[in-house]
Amino acid sequence: MTLDEARALDAADPLRGVRQRFALPAGLIYLDGNSLGALPKATPAALARVVEGEWGGDLIAGWNAHGWIDAAKRVGARVAPLIGARDDEVLVADSTSVNLFKLLAAACMANPERTTILSEPGNFPTDLYMAQGVAGMLAGRRVRTVAFDDLIAAIDEDVAVVLLTHVHYKTGHKRDMAAITAAAHAQGALVLWDLSHSVGAVAVDLNGCSADLAVGCGYKYLNGGPGAPAFLYVAQALQERLRSPLSGWFGHAAPFEFGDEYAPAPGIARFQCGTPPILGIAALEAGIATFDGVDTRALFAKAQALCDLYIALVEARCEGFVLASPRDAARRGSHVSFAHPEAYAICQALIARRVVGDFRAPDVLRMGFTPLYTRFEDVWRAVDTLVDVMRRRAWDDPAYRVRATVT
Ligand SMILES: *Cc1c(COP(=O)(O)O)cnc(C)c1O
Repeated sequence: MTLDEARALDAADPLRGVRQRFALPAGLIYLDGNSLGALPKATPAALARVVEGEWGGDLIAGWNAHGWIDAAKRVGARVAPLIGARDDEVLVADSTSVNLFKLLAAACMANPERTTILSEPGNFPTDLYMAQGVAGMLAGRRVRTVAFDDLIAAIDEDVAVVLLTHVHYKTGHKRDMAAITAAAHAQGALVLWDLSHSVGAVAVDLNGCSADLAVGCGYKYLNGGPGAPAFLYVAQALQERLRSPLSGWFGHAAPFEFGDEYAPAPGIARFQCGTPPILGIAALEAGIATFDGVDTRALFAKAQALCDLYIALVEARCEGFVLASPRDAARRGSHVSFAHPEAYAICQALIARRVVGDFRAPDVLRMGFTPLYTRFEDVWRAVDTLVDVMRRRAWDDPAYRVRATVT
């Protein structure tokens, strides 16, 4: 594939105009939208409208006048079509970590005779850490991790909830949601899916898989901005059975009656805790609006094609890189990892040349391909830069070995 051929793919891409919705710095090839999505052009004005117009102009009246009170459910309903959920099954709230806590604890409390939270070693750290926190708090509970290949066989009548990330953050492996959910249900266990690396980049069909519970991130492919509020999903059939362990007043059936006793709200609203972050939700809503009118089948097919092209070019033009992601697009998310012993320094050398991917310990160079704004030309140029970095040994520079706090 030549640069001209990559450009021809862009010219034929039905989604090529969507890139215009983003304010991307000139000359930067940004392959890290799976860590922090790019800034939508509409976000600054949307925020200014909420800050100056709604907050500044109407103060406390904004809760009713501008629908702040319903924002968590309204914006949750905008996430729903991206994950195959009904509008009243999704809520925007808190961080992914806190939502993991709420739903893991709720699942355990609803199954008091079962003692185990089952997950895989190498799951995203916060998922395991939050599970450990929940198990430590509830008497007699434990976290058990089992290598993914043995995980289905390990689901037994002692498992309250299986906790998995749908697309693995490091390798990009996409788990078979339907098969794993069915296997868990056969043993009477629930499954909690972390969709942080899926939502907005790969097809997700929670209802079609009879999924129980899910959480996901607002600042990755949803473009909600750094630290954006996260979302949670609870299948309708489970909503009345589960109680949030964080029984804050926004999850109360009648918060403005100011009673002394907690009574959970009906439906998904019970999984709110405190006052929703209206500014953060406004930015998230603008981020989700970048999907408006976009044919998601074409979008997810483009994500696969971008990844396929990257793999083919790296393998054709670079030596010493070992593919650490599935080759089969059907089993992969929208990021691709290659292992290389000098991955950290190579990543820094690429960033210095304005190709932004990231490094994941111990030796992975990870590139994320956000289909809304990544071009085939970007993939070609990123690999061309990588070829140059390797040929000149540009990575072999002490400056590229200094580790920053965030990698
Ligand atoms: C990014 C990510 C998170 C983020 O959790 P925060 O609470 O927002 O820090 C959680 N889980 C997975 C799998 C992620 O990729």
